[in-house]
Amino acid sequence: MDSGYGAIEDQLMGGVGASPGVAIGPVVSVVVESVELTDIANPIEAIGASATRVSAKLKQLSEQTRNAGRDEAADVLQAQSLMAEDPMIPDSVSEQLDAGLAPADAFDTAAAGLSALLASLPDPYLAARAADIGEVMQAIKRDLAGVDSEGLTITEPSILIAHELTAAETAGLDADLVLGFATETGGATSHVAIIARSLGVPAVVGVSNLLETGPSFACLDGASGAFAADPSDHVKAVFEASAAARASLQLRLDEVRGMSATFGDTPIAVPANIAGGGDIAKAVEEQSDGVGLYRTEFLFLDVPKPPTEEQQFDEYKLAAESWTDTVVIRTFDIGGDKPAEYLNMDPEENPFLGIRGVRIYDKFPELIDGQIRAALRASAFGDISLMIPMVATVEEFLGVKQRVIDQRTKLDSENVATGDIKLGVMVEVPSVALNAHCFAEHVDFFSIGTNDLTQYTMAADRMLGSLAGLHDPLHPSVIRLCEMVAEAGNAKGIQTSVCGLAAEDPLAAIIFASVGITKLSVSANSVNLIKATLQAQDASIADEVRKVIDTAESAREVRQQLGPHVVNA
Ligand code: PEP
Ligand code: MG
Repeated sequence: MDSGYGAIEDQLMGGVGASPGVAIGPVVSVVVESVELTDIANPIEAIGASATRVSAKLKQLSEQTRNAGRDEAADVLQAQSLMAEDPMIPDSVSEQLDAGLAPADAFDTAAAGLSALLASLPDPYLAARAADIGEVMQAIKRDLAGVDSEGLTITEPSILIAHELTAAETAGLDADLVLGFATETGGATSHVAIIARSLGVPAVVGVSNLLETGPSFACLDGASGAFAADPSDHVKAVFEASAAARASLQLRLDEVRGMSATFGDTPIAVPANIAGGGDIAKAVEEQSDGVGLYRTEFLFLDVPKPPTEEQQFDEYKLAAESWTDTVVIRTFDIGGDKPAEYLNMDPEENPFLGIRGVRIYDKFPELIDGQIRAALRASAFGDISLMIPMVATVEEFLGVKQRVIDQRTKLDSENVATGDIKLGVMVEVPSVALNAHCFAEHVDFFSIGTNDLTQYTMAADRMLGSLAGLHDPLHPSVIRLCEMVAEAGNAKGIQTSVCGLAAEDPLAAIIFASVGITKLSVSANSVNLIKATLQAQDASIADEVRKVIDTAESAREVRQQLGPHVVNA
């Protein structure tokens, strides 16, 4: 939990921060009445009719949400709308009715069964749909019982507390009246959290015994997960101070929005990481310096077949036209934790050490050549660079470089316009950092993926929460590798950037800038925090950083010794 609340920790109910912001106010409890269902005469038809109504309502809500520019939330609702029409819903309920269960129990048992089935699937996208099926089936059950499920009506600015909120209920909240909400269920990545963030409503999830405690007044902090029920004046004052600090940070962020950041005299570009066209609007709003990492594999995942060259061209052109700054497109990084079923790859014991990123390309030449062609064509409409993930050897990089040359030659012969395109390497495997001086002879830029570079340097699976202490990009060994890359790049006049998650940690950003990195690509939400942090420093901190990196034995020491020197944004 945020150290700002350490002194009052014993007066808080622990929760998980789901959507940032502080809310202080009277509480309205959302109590869901249980639904009575009488006998269903023709279950398949009756459930089907309810499912169609629920699907239509979800579709309408999804469209309203999309029109309001909240694409991520709209996608969740659209997926639920499609799911509501799936015939497996009436089939499985009617199976339970045939087995002799009462109608309401038949619904609950069928929902639990389908949800468990989805949760057990190896495909992470489908497994994540387990919560959706429960929500959709509850909505169908309520419709069948004739219960209105619209109704979270509140009349004065309040904090909502509930056992759980569905995606549809959350999307339908009136952001002018709901100061914030807290739920007993849910996690930081649940749909409720995603939608709350898109609405800008502060939220804390996973607060046990919330309804049983039944507060009439509450304070919550959706960044740290702090929740106080019926707070004392002192506790309330701590939340008010936190809200004030947040507001003053917001002012600083507004000041630097659109500015070119510098660290001392050195300009540092702060572009955004995006995963598709849906992320462009937010990054443009934050005035990111272009895109430092376009994770294109998301166009290839959770779809029955890969996107065509034409579809990719449209996507990349849209990104290229959205900025005058460079948009760095990463060729697809499929494999590891991101499998694509249609490739029918053999299962591997250690997918992170297996056929991933660049290692796939020679197996699927049409796929990579199609992507390169799409990027080359889009480069006629803006400033596009390409970079290659999971490279370990110079040969792998040169193999892709040759593909780019070949595809350009073909496009030229077809009289298709292309622009200049720079080709860089991602530094994710330590061998590239250690051999950076050789790569510098061939690449146009380096981009360090600290998520994987840390995983491979520390031999610590990035997905394993229990190894989070070891998977720390501020370990001096990881920083030293970053410094080696920047030195090799600077010696040749080649830019080095960091596009891993570490770049959005203010302390890490200062360390990277201090060792010669001049581009930090971060999520759109962090662009201005990182710009403000860079602006706030005295560049003499770079000497201090280098001293600490030369002597520190652990990431903890790096934090302890450098933390106090970093000026808060
Ligand atoms: C990284 O490894 O740091 C990176 C940016 O790539 P990804 O997180 O997509 O593997
Ligand atoms: Mg990576």
